[in-house]
Amino acid sequence: CLCHLEGQIGDCACSVDVVDQFNNVKLYPRLRSLLSKDYFRFYKVNFQRRCPFWEEDGRCSMKTCHVKMCHEGDVPPGLRENLTVEDEVLISKSHDCEKESDTDTELGHLNMTISPDVYKGFELWQAYDEDNFSVYPDEDGEAQYVDLLLNPERFTGYKGKAAHRIWKAIYLENCFWSQAPLELNNLCLEKRVFYRVISGLHASINIHLSANYLFGKRSRVFLTQQPNDEWGRNAAEFHRRFSPTYTKGLGPQWLKNLYFLYLVELRAVAKVAPYLKNESFYTGNNEEDRETKIAVSDMLKIVDSFKYHFNESALFDGGGQTADDLKKEFRYRFRNVSRIMDCVGCQKCKLWGKLQVQGLGTALKILFSGKFDSMSTEIQKNRANSTLIDLKPPQLARSEIVSLFNAIGRLSNSIYEIEQLKRMI
Ligand code: FAD
Repeated sequence: CLCHLEGQIGDCACSVDVVDQFNNVKLYPRLRSLLSKDYFRFYKVNFQRRCPFWEEDGRCSMKTCHVKMCHEGDVPPGLRENLTVEDEVLISKSHDCEKESDTDTELGHLNMTISPDVYKGFELWQAYDEDNFSVYPDEDGEAQYVDLLLNPERFTGYKGKAAHRIWKAIYLENCFWSQAPLELNNLCLEKRVFYRVISGLHASINIHLSANYLFGKRSRVFLTQQPNDEWGRNAAEFHRRFSPTYTKGLGPQWLKNLYFLYLVELRAVAKVAPYLKNESFYTGNNEEDRETKIAVSDMLKIVDSFKYHFNESALFDGGGQTADDLKKEFRYRFRNVSRIMDCVGCQKCKLWGKLQVQGLGTALKILFSGKFDSMSTEIQKNRANSTLIDLKPPQLARSEIVSLFNAIGRLSNSIYEIEQLKRMI
């Protein structure tokens, strides 16, 4: 049961049923409880970062997009040390959706000439870490902690030109994407993988908004959240977004891209498992930290049984300058995608977009930077020699671990929700 990367898109020899069975029965329930632990639920985001591509960005335009920020007392003491007085000031100044209009009216034009010169922060993230696939994490002074459990990814109503501008920028400019979708098979393996992971992420986001949909009055005030509004699964919305009838036959492929992305991220988690086993998951609460460590270890055992479905060594293995250049370009374009997240106009979408893109970037770093390959061999060697060394992963920041786990958690949830939504249909 190995996922063949060559050939037609969606041709994963590992059947969707096998993944469903593994995910829905084994991994999903474990991840769900693990991600409610303090270590994984608090994530730092900088909502103030300027969109480098077009003017008039980062605007919170709808009430459903509102994100509740953490105050200092909400954050576990072990994570709190970075919370400064300035953060508190920013929290009080943060976007207040109540005072803003409900709809986007004027939207800027997409600047399609995204090049390194456009980026103000280019040198900064060049210096940050050559191996990174996403831009530097949101750990600077303006970043704020958000409790992910209080701000679930769900329907926000972010749509139309504003949302399309983001997706278009990602697909057209950053997915090596000059061909029409049907020419996808003409792309080389690496470029096809790039497209598939982005498309998988897009599918996952759209599944979440269908699975956690706001049923309310269908009027202009619909997005102001009336007291009688209800959240629930909207199978018709899911059907509209993914059935072949409404998507020119492409919907099922987009769902397969989601499964593909799931296998890629699972593989990364499995690969980094030797480091994660030695991570303390420190939050300052001994009991909670101990439980988290046990829960992670249990989850890693489950992942280990399902790690052979994606073989990253098939990528960038041409050797020589061409393979290196391709990897650089791949990395560079993925960083562009992460910068585009600063242009998302809906705060809630920006939160989950940033988190999932950083998680995917972390997975790509684990799989393709090469650093984790040699170090995992070293750890095994040292284990065999019973040599005690500090096995802490030097390359992964807390935000990378948190984003990676939450990203796989989102995909796992999507796969679970597909089953529920299909049953309703
Ligand atoms: P879109 O999803 O906007 O897609 C545009 C076009 O892309 C489609 O017409 C289709 O041709 C193509 N397409 C669609 N899906 C795929 C795919 N999987 N692979 C390849 N091509 C595809 N909305 C929420 O309600 N809640 C959220 O949390 C949320 N988060 C978002 C995060 C980000 C980063 C972005 C950019 C948008 C987010 N949105 C969210 C908006 C949501 O993704 C849709 O853009 C919106 O609902 C409008 O949908 P649509 O039917 O116009 O098509």
